[in-house]
Amino acid sequence: MRPRSAWARPQAAETIAAANGVARDAYGDIVGALHLTSTYAFKGLGREGPYAYSRAANPSRDLLSETLALLEGGAGAVITGSGMAAIDLLLGRLGPDDLVVAPHDGYWGTQRLLGARAAKRQFSVAFVDEADEHALGAALERRPALLLIETPSNPLMRVYDIAALAARAKTAGTKVVVDNTFLSPALQQPIALGADFVVHSTTKYLNGHSDVVGGAVVAAAPDEAEALAEWGATTGAIGAPFDAYLTLRGLRTLFVRMERQQRSAAALADLLAGHPAVSAVHYPGLRADPGHLVAGRQQRGFGAMLSFELHGGFAAARAFVETLRVFTLAESLGGVESLVAHPETMTHAGMDPAARASAGIHGGLLRLSVGLEAEAELVSDVEAGLSAAHAVRRSTSGAVR
Ligand SMILES: *Cc1c(COP(=O)(O)O)cnc(C)c1O
Repeated sequence: MRPRSAWARPQAAETIAAANGVARDAYGDIVGALHLTSTYAFKGLGREGPYAYSRAANPSRDLLSETLALLEGGAGAVITGSGMAAIDLLLGRLGPDDLVVAPHDGYWGTQRLLGARAAKRQFSVAFVDEADEHALGAALERRPALLLIETPSNPLMRVYDIAALAARAKTAGTKVVVDNTFLSPALQQPIALGADFVVHSTTKYLNGHSDVVGGAVVAAAPDEAEALAEWGATTGAIGAPFDAYLTLRGLRTLFVRMERQQRSAAALADLLAGHPAVSAVHYPGLRADPGHLVAGRQQRGFGAMLSFELHGGFAAARAFVETLRVFTLAESLGGVESLVAHPETMTHAGMDPAARASAGIHGGLLRLSVGLEAEAELVSDVEAGLSAAHAVRRSTSGAVR
């Protein structure tokens, strides 16, 4: 048998994703076993084994957290029951004197969670446009405990400069949290750019098969990783072993999925950018996109998410989605099957209409999560949708938004 020690310090990220933990147990299992047990035998009174109780630690969950920490370049990770639970794990450590600075145009669930906890005075929150130097400077002067960054943002694909924001946050003594859900560590590693924590909805690209709701927090520093693991055990926000097993199975193919899905996304972005029914395309891979340069610098690819706006507003958006046959109208993203979402009535429906409008989310905005179907069929599906949207626009004689 090949000595495992030769394998001990991996390696390229692709190798970690595909094979971390293979043949490590006493049986030589290629696939890490699924440990469903809730509790473990002690070796004797006062003599605990490596595991005692699955809320504190479980081998199936540990293999996923180790793999994710390696992929993100962090010291450790906590696997949680959802992406929201991952963010909440960090928030739960704050006190009433703490301030969280969060993006004004981020994932609605995150905004809702921050708002709800702030309303209970567990901490304060300031939603700011993090691209606005002045607004950000004013927020950092208040010496926040956490700066939350979401890049590219959901759903408008705005790109924020992680290294620049992290450098500014450091001078204020602020810890930086990056939501890396949209790109995954295959395409972006925020810790290398200065982040203290990375959060994931593993529901999305990491699992990649739309059959798990889960999350993770990765910490850059060993003491933070340890404190978070303990906090996860204390609060019980941890994920189930079966979900960890499935997520690791999905993670094995992360790199090839990402590569293929983003290629189709780029083709769709080109199609959308040249179509008369479309008023704007949000995809950092396009040369004209305002995030193109920063994305090119801090990302290893442009990802498989994009959004776009139709001239005909809500009516055009309806005609578009009702014409699609390959894309399915659904929330969520990052799976192997292509999905289309209408943020105004779906993911961001709970948002205050004025705040939603100021974040740039209108009736004609649609978001695509591009999957693994044949690229030609994805393209013809979107072409058909755009023709239907264009017909609506003409029949309503120039109606906008
Ligand atoms: C989906 C999502 C979340 C929330 O994750 P859940 O697993 O649904 O709880 C957080 N951030 C982003 C960017 C997301 O897309």
